[in-house]
Amino acid sequence: MYFYIPTKIYQEEGCVRAHGQELAALGSRALIVTGKHSSRKNGSLQDAVSVLKERNIPYLIFDDIEENPSVETVEKAKEAGLSFGADFLIGIGGGSPMDASKAIALWMKHPDQPAGFLYTKGDTDSLPVAAIPTTCGTGSEATPWAILTRHALKIKQGIARPVFPVLALCDPGYLAFAPHSVLVSTAIDAFAHCVESYLNTGATPYSRMLCLQGLRLWGKAKGVLSGERAPSPQDLSCLMCASTMAGMAISHTSTSLPHGLSYYLTYDGSVPHGLAVGVFQVPYMAAAGAEKIAPLLDAAGFAGLDALSSFLTPLTKQEIPAATRQRAIQGMMGNESKLKNCPYPVSEKVLEGFF
Ligand code: NAP
Ligand code: FE
Repeated sequence: MYFYIPTKIYQEEGCVRAHGQELAALGSRALIVTGKHSSRKNGSLQDAVSVLKERNIPYLIFDDIEENPSVETVEKAKEAGLSFGADFLIGIGGGSPMDASKAIALWMKHPDQPAGFLYTKGDTDSLPVAAIPTTCGTGSEATPWAILTRHALKIKQGIARPVFPVLALCDPGYLAFAPHSVLVSTAIDAFAHCVESYLNTGATPYSRMLCLQGLRLWGKAKGVLSGERAPSPQDLSCLMCASTMAGMAISHTSTSLPHGLSYYLTYDGSVPHGLAVGVFQVPYMAAAGAEKIAPLLDAAGFAGLDALSSFLTPLTKQEIPAATRQRAIQGMMGNESKLKNCPYPVSEKVLEGFF
């Protein structure tokens, strides 16, 4: 058993400016990696830029990261970062820009390698990355994982070389700008990380502690997701903290069947990541057995699996085309790393029951 999170994490309103000195100390020229719109609207980009300007650190903004970022986009950003001479990166946004920034930081350190090197095991040296999350789902600010879209293979896949951010600045205030649909989808991803990590064959008392505490915080805010109430600052703080804790947990265990299956729904049908993993939570838990899942339901405040199903199903319901379902089942049966994390034997029949 071991526990290792080399990321320094701050969570509080205003933390980007408050800890600007530590952000700026990561290097002398910054590549800011972000999405097309949201970081301009929620103030996160402005906060990071102010910190750099105040300290005369030159920066380049690469704001072309799409949802489920592709290897091709990461390559463009790498070229931009190299031309600019960046020596550290700041990923701002949801999981998409944060994941992209890790892959770019790795590739900038190995500039002559072809794209395929991201998907082979080996040297994990990268430029330093700071992560500023603006969604409450992936926990990417506290994981070494980066999931990219590989159009050549028509699939999303985690890169093979882990890169932890060195600094995570988590300001729940940015969530106040997120539409309800983004809060719902990303919070369901955090829930899924807690569940898939807790039930994981690689779980330890340390990782389980994070899952249970993450679910308790998540459970306090779940009325926001069902639309019972508008989010309070306290709710947003709970959701952000739950997401980061869940990220710390999956850093140690990774995820399992729901995540492996979800990538096909997202690739084929553009289903947002959190909704795609949410579809499979109830059957995944049901197959684990009542005893194993009782602490999870209890921590999140559900009276039983039926109560969880009544909560999740209206939020995640999807029409899944037969071709996607077939591809997902076939792909999952060949996905050894996700299969080995599942606490029960998996067959095609088991997976068919998930749809
Ligand atoms: P995302 O793809 O990063 O962003 C989704 C949408 O939300 C985008 O349109 C984005 O706009 C918008 N947005 C982000 N923050 C916002 C805010 N505060 N207010 C308003 N809109 C906001 O979504 P995500 O669910 O966070 O990340 C999903 C990606 O992370 C997937 O590729 C998934 O596979 C990956 N993932 C990674 C890990 C890991 O451990 N690294 C774990 C789970 C999932 P802009 O495009 O304009 O920014
Ligand atoms: Fe996820």
